[in-house]
Amino acid sequence: MKFKKLKIDFMTDEQCFFCKSGRKLKEGFLIKNNLTGELLVSSRSCYEKNKSSFSNNDEIIPNLTRGILNSVSVPKNIGSDKSKKPGKSVELSNIEYLILRQEKLRDVSGIPFEGIDDIYNSYRENYVISSLENNRLQRFIDKTKRSFPQLAPSKLQRLYATIFWMNYAIEKQPNEKSKNFMRSILKQYKTYRGLSIKQIEVIMGIIETLNSKIDNKRYHIPNVELLSNNE
Ligand SMILES: [Zn+2]
Repeated sequence: MKFKKLKIDFMTDEQCFFCKSGRKLKEGFLIKNNLTGELLVSSRSCYEKNKSSFSNNDEIIPNLTRGILNSVSVPKNIGSDKSKKPGKSVELSNIEYLILRQEKLRDVSGIPFEGIDDIYNSYRENYVISSLENNRLQRFIDKTKRSFPQLAPSKLQRLYATIFWMNYAIEKQPNEKSKNFMRSILKQYKTYRGLSIKQIEVIMGIIETLNSKIDNKRYHIPNVELLSNNE
């Protein structure tokens, strides 16, 4: 029981701890070494092979990669059936919301992160929340969704996915000029949580060009769907 799995997330060319195959992961499991506290990553297949070394292999864990199109992630069976109790998946998507809002999207305008800080802090200690905290979080999400539909959980997943891969595309740009161009669009995206159709086309074109230079589709930037100003 050497490891604990924490969450499924996007990755920028990380290497799998188990096989060290040199394959660059674009998404995978973030895991913790229970003995040293060290944080590591594992591919899905290596997680499956090494499941018996995990102290929580029957648990379903938060998945922050739901915001991409025709997602290769969202596996059908992470964890066993016994953890699929009713309410469990709701609690899980609440935790995903909590992580997105308190951690991943802190620099996006118009997403207040006050009010649930304490729940997030307790989650960070042990990677679980109590049922009381879950109830409070549920009420908070429902209330927010009613007043601000643009902050619904599915929108936050998409926002996270698109910002993540835009940052990656910026990193891979060939020169400062194109990096700065994309940075300015990303800045607008983070301010308004949406782009014009024209801007979306430009960004999609840049991502396509990057992907066309990579033969192995596994290493491509995933299929993201930018939010438009009209949504
Ligand atoms: Zn591996």
